[in-house]
Amino acid sequence: MTAPIIDLRSDTVTRPTPAMREAMFRAELGDDVFGEDPTVNALEERMAALFGHEAAVFCPSGTMTNQVAIHVHTRPGDEVICEEGAHVYRYEGGGMMATSGCSVKHVPADRGRFTAEAVVAAVNDRNAAYLANSRLVVVENTVNRGGGAIWPLADVGRVRAACDAQDLRLHLDGARLFNAMAVDGTAPAQWGALFHSISICLSKGLGAPAGSVLIGPGPFIHQARRVRKRLGGGMRQAGLLAAAGLHALDHHVARLPDDHRRARRIGEAVRAHPAVEEVMPVETNIVIYTLRTGHSAIDHVADIAAGGIRCMAIGPRQVRMVTHLDVDDAATDRVLERLRSMAG
Ligand SMILES: *Cc1c(COP(=O)(O)O)cnc(C)c1O
Repeated sequence: MTAPIIDLRSDTVTRPTPAMREAMFRAELGDDVFGEDPTVNALEERMAALFGHEAAVFCPSGTMTNQVAIHVHTRPGDEVICEEGAHVYRYEGGGMMATSGCSVKHVPADRGRFTAEAVVAAVNDRNAAYLANSRLVVVENTVNRGGGAIWPLADVGRVRAACDAQDLRLHLDGARLFNAMAVDGTAPAQWGALFHSISICLSKGLGAPAGSVLIGPGPFIHQARRVRKRLGGGMRQAGLLAAAGLHALDHHVARLPDDHRRARRIGEAVRAHPAVEEVMPVETNIVIYTLRTGHSAIDHVADIAAGGIRCMAIGPRQVRMVTHLDVDDAATDRVLERLRSMAG
């Protein structure tokens, strides 16, 4: 018998567990566009309460929660301040520009984390009629392109203070915020207090098949519901998916440190590989590394794949591996063996 494929390309590849499918099967359902799906309502209320906000809205994807948030915070012609590798800028189909008509200003960052000073420096002169209106700052935690780097809460507090002083809104792309909280012990309400809106993905480390939640003040979420509908994100008996999300909150948060421990083991094995020049510090469930000059990420990924292990080339010499619910200790051992055998 051949061993099953180990898929480290992303934490989005997980399949719902039997217990999660059972929860989905049992979910009470209604038409959510009428506000009548009790399971969606329960998920939205729970997430709002958890983060200390008034309301929340369930969306099919994290791209939609982010883009809906950006749309509600801005007007066409406004400028959004974010980091160059930010998911909202790089991986959401140009949504900020196309859907919201915003321009973007990038701030310098350390693995995706920027300073309050950098935000202040990026704000356009309010008196200059020829400049775009700086309106919104987006923080990503953990930082996907930053190898799962965690933002210190205190640094975000400084960014928020700068936003208040500069009349800017602050949105959190918290696709993997639960990974960050599992490491630094911060609580959802602490993040809730610092942001005007928060997007949380249930389909990443939490292991739901789909779904993200946008959290914020009541009037903001009311507007967000309209934009979600306009973009085609009004799902009907969406409680099927919300039930998976609720199950994930109950059962898949406490286990996130297992993913982090396995990612660290993979990170150490990668560091020992002779073709590897540099590994980003492994803080959560993402391992990003750069190969030495003369090595190609695509060839390296193909080499690993010959051992039944999938990972992703994210640059000419850059490779990403992500641990998740479907990668256990035995699978981690196999990844380590494969890397060692390639090193020989
Ligand atoms: C995955 C991800 C999202 C949302 O992506 P979807 O695939 O649309 O759910 C947003 N931000 C970050 C940082 C992500 O990694």
